[in-house]
Amino acid sequence: MNRTVMSIIGLAAISLGSHAAEPLSPCQADARFADFPTYNADDLELLVNDRGTHFTLWSPEAEEVTIQLYDTDRDTAPTGIHRMTRSNNGTWRFTSPDNLTGKFYTFRVKYDGKWLDETPGVWAKAVGTNGKRAAIVDLASTNPEGWESDHGPAVASITDAIIYEMHHRDFSVHPSSGIVNKGKFLALTELATHSPEGLATGIDHLKELGITHVHILPSYDYNSVDESNLATPQYNWGYDPQNYNAPEGSYSTNPSDPEARIREMKQMVKSLHDAGIGVVMDVVYNHTGDNEGSNFSLTAPGYYYRHKADCSWSDASGCGNETASERAQMSDYIVESVKYWAKEYHIDGFRFDLMAIHDIETMNRVAAELKAINPNIIIYGEGWTAGDSPLPVEKRALKENVARMDGIAVFSDDLRDAVKGHYSDATDRGFATGKPGNEETVKIGIVASTAHPQVDYTKGNNSKFPYASSPTQIINYVSCHDDLMLTDKLAKSMPGATEAERQRADKLAQTIVMTSQGTPFIFAGEEIFRNKKGVHNSYKSPDSINAIDWSLKAENADLYKYYRELIKLRKEHPAFRMTSADDIARHIRFDKTTEPNLVSYTITGNANGDNWADIKVVFNGSDDARTIKLPNGEWTVIARDGNINATDGLGTIKGGKKINVEPRSALILARQ
Ligand code: CA
Repeated sequence: MNRTVMSIIGLAAISLGSHAAEPLSPCQADARFADFPTYNADDLELLVNDRGTHFTLWSPEAEEVTIQLYDTDRDTAPTGIHRMTRSNNGTWRFTSPDNLTGKFYTFRVKYDGKWLDETPGVWAKAVGTNGKRAAIVDLASTNPEGWESDHGPAVASITDAIIYEMHHRDFSVHPSSGIVNKGKFLALTELATHSPEGLATGIDHLKELGITHVHILPSYDYNSVDESNLATPQYNWGYDPQNYNAPEGSYSTNPSDPEARIREMKQMVKSLHDAGIGVVMDVVYNHTGDNEGSNFSLTAPGYYYRHKADCSWSDASGCGNETASERAQMSDYIVESVKYWAKEYHIDGFRFDLMAIHDIETMNRVAAELKAINPNIIIYGEGWTAGDSPLPVEKRALKENVARMDGIAVFSDDLRDAVKGHYSDATDRGFATGKPGNEETVKIGIVASTAHPQVDYTKGNNSKFPYASSPTQIINYVSCHDDLMLTDKLAKSMPGATEAERQRADKLAQTIVMTSQGTPFIFAGEEIFRNKKGVHNSYKSPDSINAIDWSLKAENADLYKYYRELIKLRKEHPAFRMTSADDIARHIRFDKTTEPNLVSYTITGNANGDNWADIKVVFNGSDDARTIKLPNGEWTVIARDGNINATDGLGTIKGGKKINVEPRSALILARQ
């Protein structure tokens, strides 16, 4: 039994008075939290106005609370320690008549007779080095020029988005990036940067590639990188949250200046917006980096987390703990936190890590409140957990429950594993690498897991029913930061294959992603065949594993051109971006194919307002050529045998006969 749980027992005994002889078990205490008052007014934790500086901490079971004021972000004694006064709705308050902008503070809670460690609270919007002390800053002074009129791209439907997932350090730290602010937010503000071969890198590269949204790996303040020692290269993905409402210091040019990380992150957003690119934040409210030492535990012990029946920490995250979104203050916290990022930083989308640890009701509130702020915001997440949870399955924001979530999409592990092979078995192959038996699951991916009369869900590998009610609920991908990225998966599962052969499979896999209904998602650098040297969990691997070598752009120019054209094809043709399950069922006709590793279909009838009447799409993942019967008419060849030209095509072909589909390739044809 852990210390937090023990102290809950103690406090329960105190608060129940005459029942002190029979204290509530901590698991019963979990149930009691449902009755706690909540508080989420705008002055929570910090408010500065002309009457002074006001501190408000939510901690219903605290016995005493103090606030420590400091002149600096670390290594100095407090300039004052003040008792806070118990106030409404579980809060404690202290007001200084002075404007304390420029100063730092921490809270300290006495709980079960013991003083806990200092904490910046759970709502610190600005912090100093390593996030230990909260800072009092004037947020308005951190806004870059033109911020009032700044906005991200319009998104009529999430299916119009093309998402590019990146880690700040991966993207810019390699010398070949030509970027000055390597590994920093500011890397994404630098224009006209290029590789040694003279090819575009940075923002210019993203514009050239044509993606619509950059999805940045965790960029709130996290634990694992020591911000006081940035001269030593350190790497972490950042799935160890510390301060949810302040940017990570190691991505700023000066972690000890609380304004720098805020200003520089806003500059990044502004520069991407100026380039027409939206910014999606990876948010990890499902667990914290620390257990007893987290800011949640140090302000309201026990409340923010779930426990197992034996009273130990429940761990659906696989990271040591899981948060309790079903509790009102935590649910409000998640909602208010993403709203803060959307309003203060103009963030255009949120990717929820292990979203199924959260309850459906909270996620629906997230979507509704975000879209009320900005209808262009996109929301998606991992519709699974990493371990079991006390939250009942029917309440979890699971991918199988996505039909009950409005305005939220989930990653399709169905398409992912079917196309490239199972994620947990490096050598397993998939549809695009010649393993038969994945054809029906590829079709499930093509129709975005919606009901379709020609798709037999009983043959699906991962899910056995059409769990999505709309293609807007599905994110398609074959590669992300987790597990073997596509390049490495191809290397491990196709031993002995030449690089040219692996790149054919790569093109086929991404053609499936980019032409399927739903929203496509790619991993930074795979467009130039970057690899991670076969490391499947590179969360703390050095730059030598994670950094993108931009010289690969010249080396793999043909592959890069293919990706660009694929993206262009999708953007120019709404038939690949239908917005309803009905449209998909009406416009997609699968051919009856029985040969392994062959899927063939037609998008008919100027789907979704497309200027092409019919689009024929054929995927051949086998080692052998296949033939298909092409209907009558004059067809323009858009993609064939590893080549693609989205706008002008690669020539024409007469229908009414059988035509060849080359091994491990996609064939796309169109007619007016
Ligand atoms: Ca940090």
